[in-house]
Amino acid sequence: MRLSRYFLPILRETPKEAEIVSHRLMLRAGMIRQEAAGIYALLPLGLRVVNKINTIIREEQNRAGAIELLMPTIQSADLWRESGRYDDYGKEMLRIKDRQEREMLYGPTNEEMITEIFRAYVRSYKDLPLNLYHIQWKFRDEIRPRFGLMRGREFLMKDAYSFDLDQAGAQHSYNKMFVAYLRTFARLGLTAIPMVADTGPIGGNLSHEFIILASTGESEVFCHRDYLSMAPPSAGTDFDDKAGLQAIVDQWTSLYAATEEKHDKAAFDALPADKQVSARGIEVGHIFYFGTKYSTPMKAVVAGPDGSLIPVHGGSYGIGPTRVAGAAIEASHDEAGIIWPEAIAPFKVGLINLKPGDSAVDAACGDLYLQLGAKGVDVLLDDTDERPGGKFAKMDLIGLPWQIIVGPKSLAEGKVEVKNRRTGERQLLTPSDALVLVS
Ligand code: ATP
Ligand code: MG
Ligand code: MG
Ligand code: MG
Repeated sequence: MRLSRYFLPILRETPKEAEIVSHRLMLRAGMIRQEAAGIYALLPLGLRVVNKINTIIREEQNRAGAIELLMPTIQSADLWRESGRYDDYGKEMLRIKDRQEREMLYGPTNEEMITEIFRAYVRSYKDLPLNLYHIQWKFRDEIRPRFGLMRGREFLMKDAYSFDLDQAGAQHSYNKMFVAYLRTFARLGLTAIPMVADTGPIGGNLSHEFIILASTGESEVFCHRDYLSMAPPSAGTDFDDKAGLQAIVDQWTSLYAATEEKHDKAAFDALPADKQVSARGIEVGHIFYFGTKYSTPMKAVVAGPDGSLIPVHGGSYGIGPTRVAGAAIEASHDEAGIIWPEAIAPFKVGLINLKPGDSAVDAACGDLYLQLGAKGVDVLLDDTDERPGGKFAKMDLIGLPWQIIVGPKSLAEGKVEVKNRRTGERQLLTPSDALVLVS
């Protein structure tokens, strides 16, 4: 992409309404635009980040055996009356009437709709297990939308729903998502810790929130320090190996980690002092086993091996891609701007032409631009007339992992400068060595 032809509306001033750094940086870096309280347009740079996040989420959901579909944002109130949640959900639900006076709503989540789809087609235990997911906008009329994308009213969610014949099967489905989440967050470049979360009236211990530690997090969390350095399960993990998967989950749940609601002070205090981490956290994912909570009232039943009708055991598994984008910035930035983890950076390389119009510099930039493109490396070429200081500041602000700086002086010696955004390290290299380093 050439910056001269791109749409990157950088703000010079720090927006006053933004309380936390990720919100400020997203606005300044031209990633998002607020259209109403808690409702944002994703501008081109923001969309690139969210698309990269979605791709990683998809790959790991698919690897774990979940199947993608796409449900609508608008739902019928009648479905929610069947589960009993239409009245319970309260003011967070945006309720709408169509021209025929039919009651509709903008979905805050999709348990009812997926259960309706399931019961329409699935009849036999032989069709289980099944896990269906989508990545779709949700609307929750949050009392206090704030922090930009992190607590929006309209936001993206990946929500998966598993269906099993019994609790043992549901446990395996839960473990698949647990492991998929460990891999997903690690690939996103984030350290997300699975913490025991409240299961509400259903009980049991099958609910975990995946939490990123950050001082601006909205919840208070407590965990064992070793979680900060545990290696995620490998890409070769066999999701059909029940015992193997259970062993991974056991390993990741054996140490202390809990949100405020489930905090056990005595157990936490018993940890060695240097292993106690008490911090603020951002909930980026949440997985949940809820048994027959929806299948019983909504009659989602299958014929078991003996022909009897059995309500299926369900679980739901959410990740907020738009919140993840904000949380990634909270976890990784400096005074100058964002420092993207490579996997979700909007471009991998920022190529800075220090003197557009200089034929040698233009040619070197053009050449690097083409070669990076040919190698499949996303590159943003700053070919604008802005002064060098402004270009440097902009590249630091948008936080691309690598900068290649091409100017007449170093080019006369056959060199370009390569800067690593995270470490700040700079090297003078030949263009071909620079190419190798950044790709
Ligand atoms: P919170 O406790 O922050 O209100 P939640 O527990 O209500 O979140 P879930 O119903 O568990 O959220 O939804 C699954 C995921 O969707 C969350 O883990 C989070 O990543 C994302 N999410 C939820 N609410 C929002 C929101 N208002 N804005 C952005 N992402 C959200
Ligand atoms: Mg909520
Ligand atoms: Mg929550
Ligand atoms: Mg939650």
